[in-house]
This record gives sequence, structure tokens and C-alpha cells, in this order.
Amino acid sequence: MSDQNPVFIPGPTNIPDRLRHAMLVQTRDHRAPDFVETLAPVLEDTKRVFGTATGRVITFPASGTGGWEAAISNTLSPGDTVLVARYGMFSHRWIDMCERHGLDVQIIECEWGTGAPAARFEAALSADKARKIKAVLVTHNETATGVKSDIAAVRAAMDAASHPALLMVDCVSSLASMPFEMDAWGVDIAVAGSQKGFMLATGMVILGVSQKALDHMESAKLPRTFFDFRDMMNSNAKGGFPYTPPLQLIYGMRESLKMLFEEGLDNVYARHTRLAEGVRAATRAWGLDLVAQSPDLYSDTVSAIYVPKGFDSNALTDRAFTAYGLSFGIGLGQMNGRAFRIGHLGMLTDVMVLSGLAGIEMAMADLNYPIRLGSGVAAAQEHFRASRPAILKSA
Ligand code: PLP
Repeated sequence: MSDQNPVFIPGPTNIPDRLRHAMLVQTRDHRAPDFVETLAPVLEDTKRVFGTATGRVITFPASGTGGWEAAISNTLSPGDTVLVARYGMFSHRWIDMCERHGLDVQIIECEWGTGAPAARFEAALSADKARKIKAVLVTHNETATGVKSDIAAVRAAMDAASHPALLMVDCVSSLASMPFEMDAWGVDIAVAGSQKGFMLATGMVILGVSQKALDHMESAKLPRTFFDFRDMMNSNAKGGFPYTPPLQLIYGMRESLKMLFEEGLDNVYARHTRLAEGVRAATRAWGLDLVAQSPDLYSDTVSAIYVPKGFDSNALTDRAFTAYGLSFGIGLGQMNGRAFRIGHLGMLTDVMVLSGLAGIEMAMADLNYPIRLGSGVAAAQEHFRASRPAILKSA
């Protein structure tokens, strides 16, 4: 029964039927001369989603974590310094990966619930007179805390310090759901995955890569084989892959791009904002607090919500699952037990979101939360009624 319900985890997302069907293709020969007709337009069209005309798109069969590894191993050398702020589980895990790769990681510790600290980046970069810092790593949308960071502000900080470091951005849980402007923000490597905004199965990491990053690749000495951009680009240029491609995902990606462009990227972003605001209205009605500390930080793909003192968020997500067959994100890292997460990304409608809010309210009521049953749902309903998109307004 529970597999009939949408999931409310912040990715992998619900897969629209249209994309499930698109991925349901029989094996085709990836060494056949016509494979290029499938692959090349997908790589080209994905550039629009990254917001790049000058960069290129490189994919590997991997999850988002593989993309982090591809980003650092293709551009950096052992002992290089990277500057990273830690404000959630995913920024933490990228830091951990850098350390395990023998990089010298200069960490800016931030409170969870805040975002990338542009002013502190600028101070650190200005102090780096010897230009030891080779890359600044930023998580655009910290899925653990529901915090969106201002990448343009990070770029401005780097420019203000006249620092030549590469800018690498994790947009795993934001790309294709929230605006992303690789060229305008001067991003050198952007890392995304198939299973979030693209609404596909997990298994394809998708990177946007600038020419500056490709220039660094020539001298980068970190070991790499599977994730070597050069092998992938050489094969792609001949219309192929250096190894077996995730064919079904490439077909899925082709259809996903069609869906995104049919809706219009701006409409996709506006829909995510609207749904997120409905969830935030519900949160206020329950009298609960978001982990994100201020409205400019609110993510439009995931809301992390503190449970009241004395309650255990794991008991809440367990209750939602066992009693109602509904999945919500658990609290990660230092948020475990203290916060739960509502994912609102991918192909969701108002009514789907309302069903999730109704379900978590029932679980809260079962556990004697100090909330009134229906209060969050009603607040979201009011928001959705008042903000119907033009296409539905004539009804
Ligand atoms: N970065 C962010 C912001 C994420 O949300 C995730 C996964 O949820 C990852 C990286 C890691 O991606 P994956 O689980 O696909 O390896």
C-alpha cells in the first residue's frame, strides 16, 4: 500500500510516469554509430539548465558523491589547499572527501541553519597572499538543513579579493528546481545528480565544467581513472563513452529535459517556490521553527523543521512511515532526533504536498504534539488557493 504514496524525502524524488516509461527501453548498442544522436543533444541541452553557454556538461555513471570526487580529482593535486565552509551534513561530507584525498582543507565552521559566509570567504581569500587556496567549495542547497546559499555573493567575495581559485558548487539538490546561473556566477564546476530535480532514477552524476577548470585539469595530479574528464571528453567527442553508459538514464534525461523545457524553467522554479511557501505556511501554523535561520536562506526544495523540545524527530518519521506509509527525511548529523525534513522537489502538485502535510500532522497528533489537527493543511490550502498559477485561474 505505502508504495502508492508519494515520497516526501528530499530526493530521490517521485518519478513521473512519463519518465519511468522513458527509462524503460530495451538495451541498445552504445558502440553503434547512432548512439551519438542520443547522447550529444542531451549533453548540449543540459547546459541550459546549468545556465552555461561557455561551459560543457560531463556525466558519469555514479551518484552525486562521485561528482564531488570527479570535481576535485580532475583539477587539484595532493597538498593543494581548498577553502570550505561547514554548515550541514553535505558540506561536511565533501570536506571529509577532500581530507581523504590528501588535500589541505581550510574549514570555516558555521552554525547549522546558516549558509555560505561570503564575508568570511572574502577575509580568508584576502589573507591568502601566497595564493595557496586553489578552490572554494560551496554547497548551494544544504539538504540537511534546508538552507540555500547565495553563490553570486561568494563569487563577488572571490572577485573582491581578486583571488584566482576555482569555484566548485554542489547543486545536487537545487539544479532543475531552483535557479542556477553557472556563467553569471562564475562557477567552474557544478555537481548535480539524476535523482533530484531531473526526477529520474539515481545513477548519473551530471557536471557543468568551465574552460578554466579544464585548463587546471592538465596539471592536476590527484589520481583518477574512472572519473577522468579527459577519457570521457575524448570518447564523447567520438559519440561514445569510455565504458558502458547508463543508457536508460540517458534516455530518461532526454525526456526529463523535454518536460522541464515544456513547463519552462522559470515556471519550474516558481512552482517549487510556491510549494515550498505552502510547507512554510504549514510550519508556522504548527508553531514550529525551520532550521534555516532567515527567509533569504529558505530552500525551495527541502524544509528542515525542528520538533518541539522533548520530542524525538525519529519517532515522528517512524510513526509517519509505520502508521501511514509516508516517508519524510530524518534529521542528519547534529539534527538527528531534533529535526525532520519535508522534501518538496521534483514533480509535485499542490494536492500531493497537502497529502504529505496531512500525513505528518496525523503522526504528530498520534505522538501528542502541541498542534491542532488540520492547522498546517489549512494554512497551506489558503496559500495554494491564493497563489494559483495563471493557467488554473480561469477555473
Ligand atoms: N550533495 C547534496 C546537497 C545532497 O543532497 C546529496 C544527497 O542527498 C549529495 C550531495 C550526495 O549525493 P548522492 O547521495 O547522490 O551521492
